Amino acid sequence: MNDISILTNSLDRFGISYNKDQIDKLYKYYEMLIEKNAVMNLTAITDFEGVMMKHFVDSLAILKYINIEDNAKVLDIGTGAGFPGIPLKILLPNVDFVLLDAVNKKLRFIKEVIEELGLERIDVIHARAEDLAHIKEYREKFDFVVSRAVANLATLTELSLPFVKKNGYFIPYKSALVDEEILKATHAIRVTGGKYEKVQKFTLPGYSDERNFVFIRKGVNTPSTYPRKAGLPAKKPL
Ligand code: SAH
Repeated sequence: MNDISILTNSLDRFGISYNKDQIDKLYKYYEMLIEKNAVMNLTAITDFEGVMMKHFVDSLAILKYINIEDNAKVLDIGTGAGFPGIPLKILLPNVDFVLLDAVNKKLRFIKEVIEELGLERIDVIHARAEDLAHIKEYREKFDFVVSRAVANLATLTELSLPFVKKNGYFIPYKSALVDEEILKATHAIRVTGGKYEKVQKFTLPGYSDERNFVFIRKGVNTPSTYPRKAGLPAKKPL
């Protein structure tokens, strides 16, 4: 039997509030993820506890450390099967979300989830971040940009900071050994107009591996030369 208290207990531990409808939606999302994963590769984690903890609680843990106000705009870069974007959207109905990925078939799954759960104020965009960041409608328009398991911090900074509003935050989800990544991203953060603020370490309840949120604040506008053309931020990090 799947016991949903593994999810709710963890959210309680983190002081993250939710209602029953939101938990039902997360459960439905889990069912759709497992069902679709049998025919396409969406996740390597398929056991109930693993999905609840390593996908859902991990995605939502950021809410312990930041307050995302109603009507804020959040972008998830490289959302894949919807992490962290979909769990965050479920818990934040009054926040505007954009989920971006370069691979369309994963986005088709996300659109099915949005439809089935009746999620609103959420857009899904099929593009590379390098291209979308140069489109006026998206450039420097987001209060928060999040991203999990997409690229090293230097690369990800070039992809993400252009989307962040002045005084907004880019907050990547990172695993252990983040200090060295931050050091290597010093230049990328500076030239894209960012300011490194802090690292917030955390662990999932019952797990020992270290996880980190890196807080990078947008200080000044990003020069229009960034991000460079598709592929370069990964091939030749700043
Ligand atoms: N964030 C999800 C998926 C991680 S896999 C999770 O944590 O589970 C990385 C995803 O990033 C892939 O779906 C890939 O298509 C996408 N991606 C990588 N580089 C990208 C880019 N430059 N622009 C948009 N999406 C990108």
